[in-house]
Amino acid sequence: SSTMAKSKFEYVRNFETDDTCLRNCYIVVRLDGRNFHKFAEKHKFTKPNDNRALGLMTRSAHSVMEELEDIIVAYGQSDEFSFVFKRTSNWFKRRASKLMTHVASQFSSSYVFYWKKFFGEKPLLYPPGFDGRVVLYPSNHNLRDYLSWRQADCHVNNLYNTVFWTLVHKGGLTTSRQRTGTLAADKNEILFSEFDMNYNNESALHRKGTTLIWEKQDETVTKQVKLPNEEEKEVHVTRSRKRVRALHCDIIGEQFWEDHPDILED
Ligand code: ATP
Ligand code: ATP
Ligand code: MG
Ligand code: MG
Ligand code: MG
Ligand code: MG
Repeated sequence: SSTMAKSKFEYVRNFETDDTCLRNCYIVVRLDGRNFHKFAEKHKFTKPNDNRALGLMTRSAHSVMEELEDIIVAYGQSDEFSFVFKRTSNWFKRRASKLMTHVASQFSSSYVFYWKKFFGEKPLLYPPGFDGRVVLYPSNHNLRDYLSWRQADCHVNNLYNTVFWTLVHKGGLTTSRQRTGTLAADKNEILFSEFDMNYNNESALHRKGTTLIWEKQDETVTKQVKLPNEEEKEVHVTRSRKRVRALHCDIIGEQFWEDHPDILED
């Protein structure tokens, strides 16, 4: 055998199991904050929606999209974010554990790194964590239904929370979940008739969550060019750069997908 003989320990590598994601499928990694009900309480998140916390989630997701490869769209609400890898991605040979742990750790470290930018002097009291899971979707239809499912979840929870916290803040509701029975009724109606609020006028960030997409932007830079035997001169070079853009819009209907036909592959 060669001088680079494998050690007698090396066989343990074979205990690793194959977790390659099926080819041709969209790979979705969804993260969710660990015990954020308590995290929100400890850090005195405003209820029902703390915009600093939502901004920090979005900033962290932005960092994931920029630092990792092949993410085509991301969607987040509350303490969760979903990242969609393009179906042809071969990043880390499509190994689920590699993709998921890179997303989770990049997101978690960014959440801590950018904390101060959103919460100022309010101290971060302990290190937060996020769980991750990988789900494969074989068709555009399934992927769209997945994203629709998360946005519908955002809607249901936000409508409930908006009514609940309006009753607490303005309606003198004291004991928690005192009127959950009533809440099962028409929540829009409670807001409208009792508090003169139109749910549709609440912020789109809260009602729709946050969708991150890549946007192509032409960027013109000026360069000094010096050719031999010529005067140095300025040339303008335009190149297309892509940057992450945050949207707070409906992604369930057709409009969004018609406006952004590049996201999904054929
Ligand atoms: P688990 O570890 O099982 O996920 P959890 O406490 O994180 O438990 P979730 O179902 O993920 O439970 O709910 C997240 C909770 O975090 C929400 O119910 C809400 O109380 C709180 N939360 C998250 N983001 C915000 C925000 N921006 N503003 C106010 N509260 C928030
Ligand atoms: P990959 O992303 O594939 O893991 P990598 O650059 O992290 O790439 P590793 O095989 O994990 O490659 O090697 C980690 C490298 O980090 C080491 O080769 C060494 O250069 C550097 N490194 C890590 N810890 C230390 C340390 N305590 N002191 C000095 N260098 C270190
Ligand atoms: Mg949960
Ligand atoms: Mg959670
Ligand atoms: Mg959650
Ligand atoms: Mg390494």
